[in-house]
This record gives sequence, structure tokens and C-alpha cells, in this order.
Amino acid sequence: MRIILLGAPGTGKGTQGKFIAKKYQIPQISTGDMLRETIRAKNKIGTSIQKIIEKGKLVSDKIVCDLIKKRVKKKDCINGFLLDGFPRTIEQAFYLSKNKIKIDYVLEFIMPYDSILERILGRRIHIQSGRIYHVKFNPPKNKDKDDLTGESLIIRKDDKEESVKNRLEEYKKTNRLLVEYYINEKKLGKIKFFQINAMNVLSLIKKEVEMILKK
Ligand code: AMP
Repeated sequence: MRIILLGAPGTGKGTQGKFIAKKYQIPQISTGDMLRETIRAKNKIGTSIQKIIEKGKLVSDKIVCDLIKKRVKKKDCINGFLLDGFPRTIEQAFYLSKNKIKIDYVLEFIMPYDSILERILGRRIHIQSGRIYHVKFNPPKNKDKDDLTGESLIIRKDDKEESVKNRLEEYKKTNRLLVEYYINEKKLGKIKFFQINAMNVLSLIKKEVEMILKK
């Protein structure tokens, strides 16, 4: 099963992605995580990527497409994969089809802008595992500590208000085209496309996603 999750940052697609990946035994491929890994390597390209991400801008299509190309060729993608945060531009969507990387499902997580801001500003991450919490909507058992390891949670640097606003601007610019593209692909019978109300509680969204993926 090959799945794309669309939606603004903070709409819970990363969290749902983790459930889906576990249930269907497919890797969750997050270009954001891969880019943060590149940054940790502390080389020249990592430093330039870091600057772009911290400003809330998009990294070039060439860089992210190269990352995806290599990643989907890995053995663990044999039964499928889940793309989280890719494609983010229409060029990236074209890249998938040009390279015959076929997709079965596109799920778009929808949420009003005001709520997105609240979601991102309350987000806390366990950096070692990628587990995502929210101070209000998905709080850890102990404040600022990971449930499984007890290690500290962090706030991502690009989850600060200024860069969040930039990221949402970038998102507005690019998302409409992407959604139009996938609605058209759906009409052509090439993919299954569903929109999900991301304002619902996590457990309800999880059930909805499970129902969709049975179709
Ligand atoms: P995310 O973890 O998905 O919120 O991504 C964090 C940041 O990484 C984004 O704000 C972008 O700067 C960059 N990024 C992640 N995925 C992409 C992509 N597909 N295209 C361009 N930039 C990306």
C-alpha cells in the first residue's frame, strides 16, 4: 500500500502516519525527518538546509526528490510506504508520476488556520523516536517527558511562532495546486483521494483512516 498524507504542519498527519505505518507494516517516510537527519551530519549542505528550515521556507525540490528517490528503493518499501510531508509542491507530485512511483491513496488532513497555529505551538517532540505530543490534545503522562523512555521532550526550532507563520504561508501557496492535481488524478481513476476533518479527536480520525484504507 502506497499512501501520501497531505495537510498543513500541525494537523496531526505525522501522528496518524505512525499508526498507519505500524498497522500496515510499511515505513513512514518523512522528508522533514530526513532533512533534520542531514542537518545533524553538520556538513555544508546540512547547514544550508538548517537555515532554510528555521526560516520556515521550503527546501529545493531537487534535494527532497533525490532523498525520496533513494529512500523508496530500499528493501523495506517492498510492500509499500507512507509519504509524510512529500510532495509539498506540484513539481514534487510530478516527480513521483514521471518516475513511475505509483500511489494508491492520498489523504488530506483539513483544519482551520487558527487551530493549526494552536496545534503547532503546543507540539512537543521526543527527538530520539520521533514520537509527537501536544500539551493540550495529546499530553505525555508526565509533563515534557516521553511516555516510554521518560526522556525530555523538545520544541522544534521551526515550531516557533515566526517560522510557523512562514510555513503556513508556504503551505497556502502550494497546497491548492497539489489538491487540484490529486482530485484530477482521482477522476482519472489513478488514485483514491479522501479529505479528513483533522479537528476530530485522534481516536476518531484513526478509525476513519482505517475505514478508508479498507476501501
Ligand atoms: P515537516 O517536518 O514535514 O514539518 O518539515 C519541516 C521542514 O522541512 C519544512 O518546513 C520545510 O522547510 C522542509 N521540508 C520538509 N519536507 C519538504 C518538502 N517535501 N519540500 C520542501 N521542503 C520540505
